[in-house]
Amino acid sequence: MSKQGILFVVTGPSGVGKGTVLTKVRERKELYFSISATTRKPREGEQDGVHYYFLTKEQFEQKVAEGGFLEHAQFSGNYYGTPAEPVDRQLKEGKDILLEIEVQGAMQVRENRPDAVRIFLAPPSFAELEKRLTGRGTEDAEAIRLRLETAKHELTLAPQFDYIVVNNTVEQAVSDVLAIMQAEACRAARTQID
Ligand code: 5GP
Repeated sequence: MSKQGILFVVTGPSGVGKGTVLTKVRERKELYFSISATTRKPREGEQDGVHYYFLTKEQFEQKVAEGGFLEHAQFSGNYYGTPAEPVDRQLKEGKDILLEIEVQGAMQVRENRPDAVRIFLAPPSFAELEKRLTGRGTEDAEAIRLRLETAKHELTLAPQFDYIVVNNTVEQAVSDVLAIMQAEACRAARTQID
């Protein structure tokens, strides 16, 4: 049987726990992560080409003009985007790819790559999200306020995704995401019997 890789997109509001859940998903399933580009400044410990490609606004806009992104979006005053070429190359090689991106970009993926599987990771409640985002300690008060405002709108978009996984406990969310991935790999439309 020969197969093209599957493009999985996991999104959800900032602070919902995408990073924690997806790190554990990757411990149990081989998935290729795409390295995004961003105009945000590196946080302590972040390396160029490892966590992100850190670009200037001009470099980012140039790449947009060249059609180099599979999707891109503005989030909390910075640009973020997924370079298209590495993703398409790895899909062709039969590798499954995981994109961990914010909600606007994930909405664009439906138009650009209609066969992508899009999962929305949701908090158990808005109050819980507020608690998690404040407790993380990586953003100042204004950045948190901005992210919460964005999150309120993003939660209204969840029904437009293929799946919603509620991050009540990390273990349950990881197991739900893995179950979705396994089922999608068995879809008749994706499977050729040679
Ligand atoms: P952070 O600044 O905390 O690293 O990321 C902020 C948000 O941008 C997170 O929700 C993260 O998932 C999202 N993000 C990271 N890379 C990309 C990307 O390539 N495209 C889009 N649309 N969002 C991204």
